[in-house]
Amino acid sequence: MLKQMENAGMTDLHLGLDPASGMRAIIAIHSTARGNAIGGCRFIHYAREQDAITDALRLARGMSYKAALAGLPHGGGKAVLIRPEGEFDRHALMQAFGRFVNQLGGRYITAMDSGTEVSDMDSIATTTEFVGCTTACGDPAPHTALGLFAGIHAAVRHRLQRESLQGLTVAIQGLGHVGHALAEHLHRAGMRLLVADIDPERVQRCVREFNAEPVAPDAIYSVEADVFSPCGLGATLNETTIPQLRCAIVAGSANNQLATDADGDRLIAHNILYAPDYVINAGGLIHVAMHQAGATAEARDEKIRAIGATLAHLFAEADRSGLSVHHVADRHAETLLAQAGHPFSHAEEPDHA
Ligand code: NAD
Repeated sequence: MLKQMENAGMTDLHLGLDPASGMRAIIAIHSTARGNAIGGCRFIHYAREQDAITDALRLARGMSYKAALAGLPHGGGKAVLIRPEGEFDRHALMQAFGRFVNQLGGRYITAMDSGTEVSDMDSIATTTEFVGCTTACGDPAPHTALGLFAGIHAAVRHRLQRESLQGLTVAIQGLGHVGHALAEHLHRAGMRLLVADIDPERVQRCVREFNAEPVAPDAIYSVEADVFSPCGLGATLNETTIPQLRCAIVAGSANNQLATDADGDRLIAHNILYAPDYVINAGGLIHVAMHQAGATAEARDEKIRAIGATLAHLFAEADRSGLSVHHVADRHAETLLAQAGHPFSHAEEPDHA
């Protein structure tokens, strides 16, 4: 286990059990060098306990990178709450998890992730103050969309040498919380919208509200567009889909968009500019962190819009160095962590979520 932590460059791992509620949880803290660790709590079934620990270790490092490049005074962490088999009292389980988080005295701040909901965060908030994404905090998706909007502007400026989005075309894959809010921003900015979702009602809503043009889910990769924005599932950029793309820029919210590291290079080979997922989708994290810190909405939005400037810097550095943008981003995050005193350095890629 310690070797696994060392390989992931983690500083601490906490295991928590509460027999009364059935809580079995893992909190992995990758780094607190830049500040207390922040990251979501995953609540899913695991076939083996070891898989849950591996998931927490795998994802915590990505959160450190994401917080560092977002300019937040936070490190990265991730919690995994193993979903019990059979019946359980969800509120009691979340409260027990909150007590576990609270014992760490703020070294780790939890938030929503796969399997958890706002109501769970409200339950957790009854036993700890170190939680985001509560009803009081609000949905992070509109803030993620604002960051995407700033990032798309930066990518268009860099690749197309254009200040305005007016008249450009975007293909959006996935019209959920983030995709729909992004569609609204881009429609207002005068872009033509091509949209796809496996849920036809979500497509129709965008057609009605933003005059979007519907595209079948498996046809969205090959439409001609300036920007392709993956806002559905992860790993959609792979050896099959990338050759189909007819866009200049990929910029979307989905986590872990590249199926493999080689797919970053594949995008370059197809002359496509890639905005690294964990940089461009940090708006929600910025919102949660700054809400915790009691920041004003103006200060928060300024930091979210700064995602555009961060990306512009990474794009320029990638051009200068000849490295892919996602490698430049990882290297930059590692430098920031090392400068803050994080004791490990890494060559391999982290998973971001
Ligand atoms: P969501 O569940 O609300 O929306 C996802 C949408 O994608 C759904 O409408 C779903 O039907 C659609 N979808 C799924 N498979 C598809 C496919 N094959 N083709 C087309 N559409 C498909 O999720 P969300 O909150 O909007 O998040 C979108 C993505 O962004 C996720 O990958 C999420 O992890 C990531 N993300 C979200 C946030 C946030 O603030 N919500 C922050 C960072 C990253």
